[in-house]
Amino acid sequence: MAFLKCIKCGATYPIEEVRYRCDCGELLEVVQELESISVSKELFDSRLGTLSPPYNSGVWRYKELILDIDNKYILSRPEGNTPVYYSPKICAYVGHPNIRLKHEGENPTGSFKDRGMTSGITAARFVGAEVVACASTGNTSASMAAYAAMAGMRAVVFIPEGKIAFGKLAQAIAYGARVVEIEGDFDDAMALVQEVTNQMNIYLLNSINPFRIEGQKAIGIEAIQQSGWEVPDWFVLPGGNLGNSSALGKALYELRELGIIEKIPRIAVIQAEGANPFYRYFTGGYTKFQPVKAETLATAIKIGNPVSWKKLEKVIKWTRGTVEEVTEQEIVDAKAIVDSSGIGAEPASCATVAGIKKLVEKGVIKGDESVIGILTGNLLKDPDIVINYHKEALQGLRSTYANKPVKIKPTIEEVKRVVKL
Ligand SMILES: *Cc1c(COP(=O)(O)O)cnc(C)c1O
Repeated sequence: MAFLKCIKCGATYPIEEVRYRCDCGELLEVVQELESISVSKELFDSRLGTLSPPYNSGVWRYKELILDIDNKYILSRPEGNTPVYYSPKICAYVGHPNIRLKHEGENPTGSFKDRGMTSGITAARFVGAEVVACASTGNTSASMAAYAAMAGMRAVVFIPEGKIAFGKLAQAIAYGARVVEIEGDFDDAMALVQEVTNQMNIYLLNSINPFRIEGQKAIGIEAIQQSGWEVPDWFVLPGGNLGNSSALGKALYELRELGIIEKIPRIAVIQAEGANPFYRYFTGGYTKFQPVKAETLATAIKIGNPVSWKKLEKVIKWTRGTVEEVTEQEIVDAKAIVDSSGIGAEPASCATVAGIKKLVEKGVIKGDESVIGILTGNLLKDPDIVINYHKEALQGLRSTYANKPVKIKPTIEEVKRVVKL
């Protein structure tokens, strides 16, 4: 059975115990006892295409590595099994021939958060929780609200007032969560929810909860399985609270320990220029981690004081990874390309593509290396940005690839004027 371990002092706790931090205050991680886990590529492949739960899920297909408990606790939609896209248009844009994009925005509630939520809610059921809570820039609350509703639990979400994308807010309200807007930003909400869950009998489902990380590991495992267990040279993904990038690193570590992969892919984490505390820490040679006041239109990564920075530091070092930052202009232009390729994704996801472009230009990602980029959230999450970009109404930004709708009188002459063949 797995157990919880402090990432700093090494103290251990049983997984039955409800706790999110060590007594010393540091984060916990789930330690999988890899010596006693017997899994293989063949086992995971034998579950592909199955209709039976929980193995029909792209998370629980790897159950032994996620949370090996009685199936009766598992709440699965199922999630995962997300597609991997190849787009000549996007490859041309980033200047690299071999980019594949795994679209986590095609999960049940439209973001990768569903992967961590199925494991998180399952852990909540395992410890008998009745009320769950999270602070969120939007997608965690949308996902938690949906999973809690299905589990018959009450959900409380804390969101920064007026700052979350419309689609995400709509989901949290629609799925029936108690939505609490707080006067402050995500980092304030995150501090508050930790106090709330320590003092009230409410189970915390942010990615500080180590079981969330376990589910999110499945993105990397599934991506590699979808490549026929060929490991790419690079994984590229956006970083906000840094839970997802930490989870990817943990997945790779465990796969390698288990002998399922040999090569360690490099991880590139992309931050928005206005929310770049880990980028600064990385470029400053890991001297001192300093939170920033976050500002970016990519609200999913608008986080100035990320919870999982220590976990990610280990991951970046172990994978010989890198960290890059991208501007608002680079994010919206990359988004216009991702969207008009027919794939589509929300702004934070497109930081991935903007980041790949930058790393290719800098020669960090080489032309003969293979790259899997993670698109983290769905296009429909943030319609305002789409409309405003194409209406050339994004303050201070150019709409380089604007596709403006036109209005006409209903006559064939008018149609011939605006639709040129
Ligand atoms: C949560 C989220 C991120 C950031 O992931 P972290 O684990 O917080 O670093 C990026 N993109 C989208 C769409 C998200 O929902």
